[in-house]
Amino acid sequence: MKKNTVQRIGIMGGTFDPIHYGHLMIAENAREQFNLEKVLFLPTGHSPHKQEQYVTDSLHRCRMVSLAIADNPVFSLNKMEVESQETSYTYVTMQKLKEAYTNAELFFILGADSLFDFELWRKPEEILKSCRILAACRKHRQEEGFFRQIAYLNEKYQDRFFPLDTPNLEVSSQDIRRRLQYGRTIRYLVPETVESYIRKHHLYEGEEAEVETNGNREETEKGTG
Ligand code: ATP
Repeated sequence: MKKNTVQRIGIMGGTFDPIHYGHLMIAENAREQFNLEKVLFLPTGHSPHKQEQYVTDSLHRCRMVSLAIADNPVFSLNKMEVESQETSYTYVTMQKLKEAYTNAELFFILGADSLFDFELWRKPEEILKSCRILAACRKHRQEEGFFRQIAYLNEKYQDRFFPLDTPNLEVSSQDIRRRLQYGRTIRYLVPETVESYIRKHHLYEGEEAEVETNGNREETEKGTG
């Protein structure tokens, strides 16, 4: 039988500050449920969503992603956004990926918080021309609202949104940063290799750290996120 040559590619976009098991878990479940042949982990460059917030240098964020995905041959790191000097708008990134992968169906993977914000993103209709959206709920208590939001968006944007069936892991990068600042454990929240990297480079300890803020590198007090 002739193999279908259309590739199905997942895009797991995120700040990954740091990457954690919530990210890896939803990407893996998306791969399984939507028969994705690969999943690209795409750390944000200069994100319009987190302009008010300190973001760790992209070099560290990319290295942590590489360590976290090293044992999964289907996962790879894509540095398109971090290598760009411009603000990273998802609609632009998705257009570029569509051009790069001409014979592919793209699936953008996100969590419920991003699903609720989706219409605030720049040019949502343009994003949906390039990809479909696979969304994971983050909290059990929000499930009803989550499915309502999917139904609302599907009615408005012609069925481009699909719920992922995943466990709800209430882990977040912000919680991990806070734990590190207060000297609390992050074991079982991130892969061991990522924890070792964080410890080795003294990330998120609340000390002076080199960060990117709104596109500019500067020495400043590291916030809690
Ligand atoms: P922060 O706590 O700093 O806001 P985060 O943990 O939400 O960060 P991001 O890198 O901003 O991590 O997230 C990238 C994507 O992964 C987003 O769409 C987010 O909703 C999703 N995501 C993050 N954590 C989870 C989780 N535990 N379960 C499901 N989706 C998640």
